[in-house]
Amino acid sequence: MADLNLNELHDTEFPLPEQMHGNVAITSLSKLYNWSRRSSMWPLLFGLACCAIEMIGTAASRFDFSRFGMEVMRATPRQSDLMIVSGTVTKKMVVPIVRLYNQMPEPKYVMAMGACASGGGPFKEGYNVVSGIDKYLPVDVYVPGCPPTPQALLHGLITLQKKIDGQSLANLDDVPWYGVGPSEPTPIPILGPDIIDPRQMDTIRRQAELAALGQPIGLRALPDVPVYKPKPKKAVAAAAVVEEVVVDEEDAARVMELRQAALARKRAYDASKS
Ligand code: SF4
Repeated sequence: MADLNLNELHDTEFPLPEQMHGNVAITSLSKLYNWSRRSSMWPLLFGLACCAIEMIGTAASRFDFSRFGMEVMRATPRQSDLMIVSGTVTKKMVVPIVRLYNQMPEPKYVMAMGACASGGGPFKEGYNVVSGIDKYLPVDVYVPGCPPTPQALLHGLITLQKKIDGQSLANLDDVPWYGVGPSEPTPIPILGPDIIDPRQMDTIRRQAELAALGQPIGLRALPDVPVYKPKPKKAVAAAAVVEEVVVDEEDAARVMELRQAALARKRAYDASKS
């Protein structure tokens, strides 16, 4: 378990006596919220191919991702907030992967580990392989390599932590899972003679009609699958509300005054130290 470092949490221009730095932090709600989430990511316990061995190596004692609060790999999507897609995604496997992703609660993140998960890797365009999990799920971090080393995976995890640190509760587009109502599930692909994405149904139907008429259908005519992102419903609602808020100018001036005074105190304090 990582040590608690209050300096990481300190996030204000208000001065804090040096002797209190180890015990007290003045911070924002966003910072505290992001810090707690990113320090306790629970990855979903599954692996797909050779990359999974490197992931297991990363969890073991030599590299040990418990240092990032990530050691609790859960064997159920209901308790996981990170999906590490580690290995070759076959057309047969992408169906349960999307189903598992839908079963994970928000907020949730996806990491594509290795060349196969990122774009098909050495098996790209193989008859049974998906050319990248991002055709179906919104990927937050790509970890390159075949396979990526444990160091590369750790770097990917740290990158994800930085991404979470950059999210703000004040910007609801950053945290769309606080939208009104449940988020829309990602359509689960259908495995027939080939994989079918329900989002491409209209195009497939049109092509079937053209084929029935004996006309060319264009083998590569399928459009790219749009990457699903949950809609920031609440953000839209909040933006509408914000327009109606009337700012009290006297209050605003008073807040600005207090802020200036605090900044002046901080500068004086800093100057007295140097
Ligand atoms: S990227 Fe390389 S190591 Fe990883 S699953 Fe594919 S072939 Fe295996």
